[in-house]
Amino acid sequence: MSENTDGLKQFIMNRISQNGAMSIAEYMDLALGHPDYGYYMTRDPFGVDGDFTTAPEISQMFGEIIGAWIADQWFQHEQPAEFTILECGPGRGTLMADILRIGETVPGFLDAAHIVLMETSPVLRAAQEETLAEYNIGWAQDLDAAREYFADGPLFVIGNEFLDALPVHQLRKTADGWSEIAVDIDGEDLVKAQIPADESLVAQIPQGLTSAMAGSVVEVSPARREFMLLIAGLMRDSGGAGLFFDYGHDRSAAGDTLQAVRDHAFCDVLSEPGEADITSHVDFAELCAAVQEVGGALEPVRAQGDFLCAMGMEMRAEMLADQNPDYASEIASQFTRLTGGNEMGRLFKVMEFSF
Ligand code: SAH
Repeated sequence: MSENTDGLKQFIMNRISQNGAMSIAEYMDLALGHPDYGYYMTRDPFGVDGDFTTAPEISQMFGEIIGAWIADQWFQHEQPAEFTILECGPGRGTLMADILRIGETVPGFLDAAHIVLMETSPVLRAAQEETLAEYNIGWAQDLDAAREYFADGPLFVIGNEFLDALPVHQLRKTADGWSEIAVDIDGEDLVKAQIPADESLVAQIPQGLTSAMAGSVVEVSPARREFMLLIAGLMRDSGGAGLFFDYGHDRSAAGDTLQAVRDHAFCDVLSEPGEADITSHVDFAELCAAVQEVGGALEPVRAQGDFLCAMGMEMRAEMLADQNPDYASEIASQFTRLTGGNEMGRLFKVMEFSF
């Protein structure tokens, strides 16, 4: 075990000894975001040598399509002289670099754009600064700080694999009602336990799931809902649009979807806090409901492959292959990874809305 794991595991054990079993949400928050030991705070996890690969790291086409989507939104909002592009959880900055390269081909677009990156990890922020050195960019750790950089115009917000990193609570239906799954100590190990479920969490269970069978696990994420309400609230005032990609479902469903990934393989969620990426599937139905509450207009949630193809990615792939014949087969396989039904194309979903 590395020093990092020891440090965080010990920290979590101390906290449990003092306060009692902690919620899965608190555990996830510490495992990913503890300032000294958190997974994202201490490393660049992407790529073949890392733990997992994301869509923008697979192909430049992903960011180019999103760039075209933002440019289209800018036209639909009547080419305002100033607007904001906010990316949440920008990783290495690859997606934004691809967006801005497309943006350069649209007259007036980049001059009007305020670019803001919301990122908590100092390691990844440094990577973003390097990738995007030629651009004028504002960095912020949270939405409140990000607002300092916003233009006096519409707000376009994007995020790829950002929502799945925000913490979830897990509730279990028992014969006596709902309880919360928590993390406790058993000897040297962290183990799952049950604690009484807070009423405010039970109130967030999606309507169709309140009568789930005994034994069912339902995940609720006040952090994701709160984030979406805040974003939508800002757009209601300024106009704008949002585009979020994530592993998830378009209809709320019961099930334990918490998973840990290290070195491109699944591992135990509790055994290596801080050393593995921990995520859970995003319940897009709930997030759409939050946007609707604020008055936003939603597109139906689509599979990533359907969205990318509707935006013309197949043509883009053919064009790139014509320009780079030596890479034609590589480009074709990137296209398949991003859009294919057995790859990211169907499991990843796209949430799109506007004000
Ligand atoms: N969008 C990138 C990276 C996805 S990984 C890509 O597709 O490659 C998740 C990203 O979200 C990382 O950059 C991580 O540091 C960041 N992140 C996680 N929790 C965050 C939070 N609460 N606020 C801001 N950024 C966060």
